[in-house]
Amino acid sequence: MEQHLQHPVFKALADIANMHHIEAYIIGGYVRDIFLDRPSKDIDIVVLGNGIHFAELAGKHLRSKVAVFKNFGTAMLKFQDLEIEFVGARKESYRSDSRKPIVENGTIEDDQLRRDFTINALAISLNKENYGQLIDPFNGITDLNNKLIKTPLDPELTFSDDPLRMMRAIRFASQLNFTIDEQALNAIKKQKERISIVSKERITDELNKIILSDVPSVGFKYLFDTGLLHLIFPQMAQLYGVDIINGKGHKDNFYHTLQVLDNICEFTSDLWLRWAAILHDIAKPATKRFEEGHGWTFHGHEDKGARMVPKIFAQLKLPLNEKMKFVQKLVQLHLRPIVLAQEVVTDSAVRRLLFDAGEDIESLMLLCNADVTTKNEYKVKKYRNNFELVKQKLKDVEERDKIRNWQPPISGNDIMETFGLTAGKEVGLIKNAIREAILEGEITNTYENALEFMLEKAKEFGLQPIKR
Ligand code: ATP
Repeated sequence: MEQHLQHPVFKALADIANMHHIEAYIIGGYVRDIFLDRPSKDIDIVVLGNGIHFAELAGKHLRSKVAVFKNFGTAMLKFQDLEIEFVGARKESYRSDSRKPIVENGTIEDDQLRRDFTINALAISLNKENYGQLIDPFNGITDLNNKLIKTPLDPELTFSDDPLRMMRAIRFASQLNFTIDEQALNAIKKQKERISIVSKERITDELNKIILSDVPSVGFKYLFDTGLLHLIFPQMAQLYGVDIINGKGHKDNFYHTLQVLDNICEFTSDLWLRWAAILHDIAKPATKRFEEGHGWTFHGHEDKGARMVPKIFAQLKLPLNEKMKFVQKLVQLHLRPIVLAQEVVTDSAVRRLLFDAGEDIESLMLLCNADVTTKNEYKVKKYRNNFELVKQKLKDVEERDKIRNWQPPISGNDIMETFGLTAGKEVGLIKNAIREAILEGEITNTYENALEFMLEKAKEFGLQPIKR
């Protein structure tokens, strides 16, 4: 293992340990990631005894400031581009009503035993007698090679003690494309209700990590199959299933959504665009109807979906800021480019889409491309070709009319000043009429034309410009 400890910091830590007769080990994710060839900058050090004391010795030696978290018995220092966290080896036992364990000092093996998964329980010695030796009492390396998420202890106990670990198991499976060991999976199914003692923020942290993995459907399928999804995000679980009436079914919106999500992940790492993919059809169950002669319809699911977005963000403790607004906008608009792609594309329809989507037009086009999940190759080709046409048209119209981030040349204030009005219905009506006329191409996007149009329009309301 010594070849993996090239960084001089490891020798320095080993020297301090030796000098003060303290046993120290590298442990957890950093060791796992060595074997997965995923270079990491976060190092966890566990020492037999007092972790904070060792961190302070290390801080002095490395001339680095140490941040102490007394309540947690941990300390952290930054050295070059590394973040090193120190903790004393612990033995833990749990009560049923809390994620907080009763903690005592322990041996290195006690400490490895309290880790969530065998692949996260690997340690490397920093001690003189066996420097660089891998310490793997629970066959973590075998599980790494077999791509298995397995717990060192009885999995039911592991998940019951700290139910966040159920989310972590699924998160690691999704990030690493690993399988969850069968016993562990059954244990999650049994213990799923315990997720209720974990804070929403921590659940969502893990959920976001699943969403940011290369193929998030891996994680979401586990969430669904274990029943966790029904508890933490029921609206998404409700997308599952197919109804059949008169021999006509619709597609399963859960698996469709996962396909859209995986598709978009090939083109973007943006968490919020990925959320838009997850939520684009979220209102389909609520708007589903069977119409005689038509089959299944989901009329208005984009409007209702957009209205559901703030509630879902609040429920999951996601930020209620411009990120939410972005997701909401994409859900609202997700059908628009498809409609354009199916019909003859008029300039005014393109201008309208550019106006409504503004600077998010590229994200919207990515979402719509990802939304094409039909298995019918002919249809895929047709949609994709039409999308290319829409994109070209968007480019042409944007270059000509600069509609993106556009504001009509006459503002509400201009209208109020011209006619001596205070804010009210008429101002809004005139303003909208001007905007519509420009988007429809009835007048060009210039101040002169808009002014003339405004004066004409105002006459319909019996308004005359005031004299100055
Ligand atoms: P990543 O940095 O990708 O999240 P990581 O394994 O480093 O991966 P951390 O959350 O930083 O994850 O945890 C560091 C180590 O602490 C883990 O490798 C594991 O050994 C242990 N650990 C973290 N959370 C738990 C938990 N809830 N139960 C048991 N052990 C845990």
